[in-house]
Amino acid sequence: MLLKDTLREVYHILPQSWRMGRAFHVLYREYEKRMFQTYEKRREYQMDQLQRMISYAYAHTRYYRNLLDERGISPKSIQDFSDIKKIPILTKDIVQNHLAEMVSDAIPRQQLQYVTTGGSTGKPLGLYITATVERKRLAFTWLNWSLMGYRMGDACAVLRGTVVKDGFWSYDRGENYLILSTYDLRETNISEYLARIKDFSPKFLRAYPSVLDILARYIQKHGKMLSCLSSVKGIATSSEVLTPEQKVWLEDIFQIPIFDQYGNCEQVGFLGMCPHGHYYEAMEHSYLEYLTENGNDAVGGEVGEIIGTSFINDAVPFIRYKTGDEVLLSRHPLQCDCGIHTRSIQRIEGRMGESLQTHYGNLISITALNSHSDIFDHTARIQYYQDTPGIVVLKIVRRPEYTDQDTEKIYAELNQKFKQQVDLRIEFVEEIPLTSRGKYKYLDQRLKW
Ligand SMILES: [Zn+2]
Repeated sequence: MLLKDTLREVYHILPQSWRMGRAFHVLYREYEKRMFQTYEKRREYQMDQLQRMISYAYAHTRYYRNLLDERGISPKSIQDFSDIKKIPILTKDIVQNHLAEMVSDAIPRQQLQYVTTGGSTGKPLGLYITATVERKRLAFTWLNWSLMGYRMGDACAVLRGTVVKDGFWSYDRGENYLILSTYDLRETNISEYLARIKDFSPKFLRAYPSVLDILARYIQKHGKMLSCLSSVKGIATSSEVLTPEQKVWLEDIFQIPIFDQYGNCEQVGFLGMCPHGHYYEAMEHSYLEYLTENGNDAVGGEVGEIIGTSFINDAVPFIRYKTGDEVLLSRHPLQCDCGIHTRSIQRIEGRMGESLQTHYGNLISITALNSHSDIFDHTARIQYYQDTPGIVVLKIVRRPEYTDQDTEKIYAELNQKFKQQVDLRIEFVEEIPLTSRGKYKYLDQRLKW
């Protein structure tokens, strides 16, 4: 999954001026108001947005104009939610091959920012966003964090994929973030990490579930270290699957509530978590369908794949996009005391936070390696493989444009993250087989620990 990014580190490279300012606050307040409206009212908004997005895509992209014309679908004929099923599903393959035709001609070129989804979905995918898309994405993220009490500027300790150049931590003044390297986290220095967090006294933690697991196991063993987290009021997780069982275990050890979040770089679908621990749909972000393997709408108690139509990316419209991520639907809709009324998700299925083992025996989260730079642009598929501690094989299926320069870039960026703890070997392969369930594996880990 995933979940991949959830929301991912790529956004840290975007200028901060994109994120703040009046436009941001207007958006935030608008989405906040809608978040607590009735389900019916929110569905009306979704229908308006679906019609807007389909008309917009038809008017401004060659891809959708051709697609709808070929099928004889007029944007005006989309009148209710069942009508949207007339539009064929959009796959990653299609986006990879037709991106140029999918970009909206309503957006001036210089406003387009190229981003990539990283490799965790198997197929690294490039797309475009704009400053407005980034502002909207951030508004939904902060709205979700507001449910745990977060306010802009609150001190946060971050244990995600950011590379720290010197030492194991750095301070980001703009965000008020203490950034801790997850590449250097070892049994022998976890106490230093915890001491550093204690000094910083953050109100919140942001971390991958796999990193929380490492901290939790350590704290379980050396109970007294828990006091280092006494300032922390909430923990925000994303980018990896957090299972309900794992949430209970982690909350029991940390004695701090965890707020999970699902999103992706394509901006198709956003699930947040309410203070009562229920997943909710950010209905103003995207319209979501959950389809079973047979292509039917999943009902409560069934697993369905998230097929989403984004309301927030006007640069590249994503309509009925197959995310590859699956959820188990709750049997009952969410009608929570917190005032949020949506369909409800019981759990997000998919890739757990998996890790690679270094020469020193410590683990590096595979999610952290999920690069959002352009290093995988010329690859068709990638997969990490490990059967020996300290040695990692990166299997690559090349696209025709791939050259030695790509290999150099990949080595340079990944070795910077590994910091000589891992011997990286690149191997070119013709294909990467899927699992027996037809799923793609980002990491083929043969070691047991
Ligand atoms: Zn609630």
